[in-house]
Amino acid sequence: MRLGALEAGGTKMVCAIGDELGNIESRASFPTRKPEETMPDIIGFFADQKIEALGVGSFGPLSLDPESSDFGAITTTPKLEWRSFPLRKSLADALNVPVGIDTDVNAAALGEAVYGAGKGLNSLVYYTVGTGIGGGALLDGRLLHGLVHPEMGHMLLRPDPRDPSPKGFCPYHESCLEGLANGPAIEKRWGISAKELPEDHIAWEIEAEYLAQMCVNTIVLLSPKRIVLGGGVMHQAHLFPRIRRRTLEMLGGYVAHPAILEKIDTFIVPPALGDNAGAVGSLLLAVNAIQK
Ligand code: ADP
Ligand code: ZN
Repeated sequence: MRLGALEAGGTKMVCAIGDELGNIESRASFPTRKPEETMPDIIGFFADQKIEALGVGSFGPLSLDPESSDFGAITTTPKLEWRSFPLRKSLADALNVPVGIDTDVNAAALGEAVYGAGKGLNSLVYYTVGTGIGGGALLDGRLLHGLVHPEMGHMLLRPDPRDPSPKGFCPYHESCLEGLANGPAIEKRWGISAKELPEDHIAWEIEAEYLAQMCVNTIVLLSPKRIVLGGGVMHQAHLFPRIRRRTLEMLGGYVAHPAILEKIDTFIVPPALGDNAGAVGSLLLAVNAIQK
């Protein structure tokens, strides 16, 4: 099947052509400007590609209730030009194919669960730790939505006593995950690019502490079979053993399943699809759109 994938991000729109097996044949990237400028780029890319369906993993917040008249629209985003923009409908009208849409992190969770680090698992949570922090969840084989959709990046955390900026930097919340632990928070706190912080800097102990709290909260709340941690900050591979160790310590043996107690190394893992998780997941959203 020839399918399209769109990863709609706040800084760039990545368009790809691929198939239901997650193979990607070609891709192109366009800067995210106003909808009037950006949509023609996207539609132009897909228009003569003869795709059977399109899957979109998008920044949000999004309206994801299929019964709602604004299904697939971007809603209250701080990017004002995109507020209330009917992303799914614009693409469906222009390309005349079924269009599936979900959050960027739900798409990545789906990609990793079907073809990546959670191959074959029906329950998995995916986080991206980058410019923002977001989480997507597949539970019992279904992507989790709810009233709107989860905003796991804004869960409240317990500040680390060693943190010189314990309130974090989120404009909405004091001491939320994103405000404490995204790439920009690391840089604001320490005044140096996260890429340049040495491995033995206390910054990484504190970062691991916050990401371990995130994993503990995720385990007790959603009970996924695996947690996949991606995004630019997770390129610091030394974070993984620290996060695993603190997760075990903070759980205190309470969730007594061998997948956690004995095999934490395969429970909290990096993405297997790397930067392709979102694109592969979006191809699968396209498949789902055809089946609906
Ligand atoms: P985005 O979230 O914008 O889609 P990324 O996931 O690449 O993109 O995240 C970018 C953020 O990740 C930046 O804040 C940057 O500081 C941080 N980052 C990127 N690479 C690294 C790295 N190797 N080590 C630590 N932080 C990094
Ligand atoms: Zn917040």
